[in-house]
Amino acid sequence: PLILGIESSCDETGVGIVRGHELLANEVASSVEEHVRFGGVVPEVASRAHLEAIVPTLERALATADVDLAEIDAIAVTAGPGLMGALVVGISAAKALALATGKPLYGVNHLAGHVAVDLLEHGPLPQPAVALLVSGGHTSLLQVDDVATKIIEIGATIDDAAGEAYDKVARLLGLSYPGGPVIDRVAGGDGDPAQAGDPKAIRFPRGLTAQKDLVKHRFDFSFSGLKTAVARWVELRRRDGLDIPLADVCASFQEAVCDVLSAKAVEACTALGSEDLLIGGGVAANGRLRALLAERTEEHGIRLRRPKPALCTDNGAMIAALGAEMVRRDLRPSDLDFGADSTMPVSRPLCRSGADPGP
Ligand code: ATP
Ligand code: MG
Ligand code: FE
Repeated sequence: PLILGIESSCDETGVGIVRGHELLANEVASSVEEHVRFGGVVPEVASRAHLEAIVPTLERALATADVDLAEIDAIAVTAGPGLMGALVVGISAAKALALATGKPLYGVNHLAGHVAVDLLEHGPLPQPAVALLVSGGHTSLLQVDDVATKIIEIGATIDDAAGEAYDKVARLLGLSYPGGPVIDRVAGGDGDPAQAGDPKAIRFPRGLTAQKDLVKHRFDFSFSGLKTAVARWVELRRRDGLDIPLADVCASFQEAVCDVLSAKAVEACTALGSEDLLIGGGVAANGRLRALLAERTEEHGIRLRRPKPALCTDNGAMIAALGAEMVRRDLRPSDLDFGADSTMPVSRPLCRSGADPGP
């Protein structure tokens, strides 16, 4: 079946079209440039940008996939979590399309979408599988029993998300927004290996890895202490009139983040007896995280499933991929009275209706 997916939870307007696990189109319009001067996403600006981008993005996706709206079998849209005013734009568009075409509509979970997108590239997910979800608003370890119906969060950040830490550290270093890709680039020497930073230059703290923390927080993360440590290190250098070795600071900060993420992800696979580790979310596009995970999963005989970077950041294909799973399982579609759920938990992949939020 042909599934159309619509994403508008943050600053990307995405429309994707899939046929089963086959990706036919993935059009993304981002309002990121409009937020740069504010150093973060401004909700009202994002909503307006979605409103302007939604129809042209939909038209481009249909053209790229070379399909007619009438050929679409089902529509999926991000119901949450995300910015309320941004979500509403995608949901309204999706409801209008569903009403006009008479096709079933699935209000789905953005975070489950970050997991489901991997199926487009690497096929069905064996069980038990573990997913490391690392994005701008979330950082967690998930036991994925079934991406369409059963995702259990086994650990999560107790403060900042990994992407949020990247963005905040970039800001304090005077680098531009969003910080993740910039720090990734600067740490790597901006394409020149001779300019690459030394990940061992500064030993920044690894949150929740001490023996005493592991008792209660074995699979949890904490990045706010790391952010403060970077801020203090930079402040002391400036006070002493020393220059800031930007590449080294970026590489060392990045190493602290990726070291903890990959160690706990591998540990979760071992604990759950999972031979498959999947990664998703914007930070899963990070070069160092991908490399370190490749090393460590190989050491432990774990298969690593890494979606290509363009599928890690927000897009419509991930929502279409999740919708395709709902259809494949014959799940009942959402009633048209469902609304945006800005705090929708990852444990609820599908929103059934306004009255009954579902499983
Ligand atoms: P959520 O998915 O939690 O609702 P979001 O949708 O805003 O949040 P994503 O689009 O999945 O988040 O990811 C955006 C985040 O990913 C930003 O914090 C950004 O800095 C980070 N990011 C993107 N590319 C990279 C990279 N190469 N390295 C590190 N971080 C990155
Ligand atoms: Mg974004
Ligand atoms: Fe996201």
